[in-house]
Amino acid sequence: MAKNEFDIIKHYFAQQQLHRDDVALAIGDDCALVDVPADHYVAVSTDSLVAGTHFLADADPALVAYKALASNLSDLAAMGATPAWVSLALTLPTIDEAWLAPFCHSFFELANQYNIQLIGGDTTKGPLSITLTVQGLVPRGQALTRSGAQVGDDVYVTGNLGDSAAGLTLILNQHHCDANLASVLVERHFKASPRISVGESLRGIASAALDISDGVVADVKHIVDRSKVAIEIDVEQLPLSAELLAFCGGDRQRAQQLALSSGEEYELCFTAPTAKRDALKAALAHTNVKYSCIGKVKAGSNLSLLQLGKPLTWQLSGWDHFVVTNN
Ligand code: ADP
Ligand code: MG
Repeated sequence: MAKNEFDIIKHYFAQQQLHRDDVALAIGDDCALVDVPADHYVAVSTDSLVAGTHFLADADPALVAYKALASNLSDLAAMGATPAWVSLALTLPTIDEAWLAPFCHSFFELANQYNIQLIGGDTTKGPLSITLTVQGLVPRGQALTRSGAQVGDDVYVTGNLGDSAAGLTLILNQHHCDANLASVLVERHFKASPRISVGESLRGIASAALDISDGVVADVKHIVDRSKVAIEIDVEQLPLSAELLAFCGGDRQRAQQLALSSGEEYELCFTAPTAKRDALKAALAHTNVKYSCIGKVKAGSNLSLLQLGKPLTWQLSGWDHFVVTNN
């Protein structure tokens, strides 16, 4: 029988070289079959990227693939899970091999790096969108949830904050800056590193964790709500890159505002008891990922922003100006 366009796609998606031992049956049947090790939970998460909402329809397919998989891996990282399997539901306007080839190349490059195997999916015709379901493994009782923060815990973030939002303003031509600086920030927007090894290392140490997909302010509120605590963040402790400060022309306050609101950072935000500071340092040493203490868990039920321990001297008015969106 002649190959139809969807056979071509399946051919593309069956190209991955990685074959995990725990995959009994992958692409090609009605379902995939996987083996779950004893004493583990399967952590499952789904995210969709829709052209025109989450990325521009003419965006580089290699970057779109990276972003789709990296943002899903980030959810596994935030749960303390080790990536295992992924399914891909792809809706394409046309079968464009010039789009599919770089998409698959980039997807498998990242998937192989994190030992996650594509085990199935669905392919349909329609407006461009990508939905991934990732699955990871976490030892029972060790998953990092949003609900475990305790009064007295420290609040941490990995990496730097704000670069992704700055990159997005450049992609959307809302700002212009030096070309070298622009390429660094645009790359940070598309190519955040999922913090898998950090998440795994935080098992047994962090009391709560999530990944920053909507901005520190919006995301930390989830820990506040789920853990029923108050959190104070000191904006002076927010980790800012030299590139972000340069982008903001040295305006530190503007950089802090971007750092507070920038989504799609895919850094981890977590809480941990003060008594575990040394254990935390030892556990994260091998990851080569920097982390910063940005605040404290208190009794109460709200999120407050401080500057060197005092109330902010600037309002979060003008906030909307910095909340960038490509919807
Ligand atoms: P069915 O009609 O039985 O649901 P499909 O024809 O949709 O099966 O898919 C056949 C096989 O190809 C299945 O194993 C499915 O998981 C896989 N598949 C289809 N599209 C994709 C994709 N985009 N990525 C990975 N696997 C896919
Ligand atoms: Mg079937």
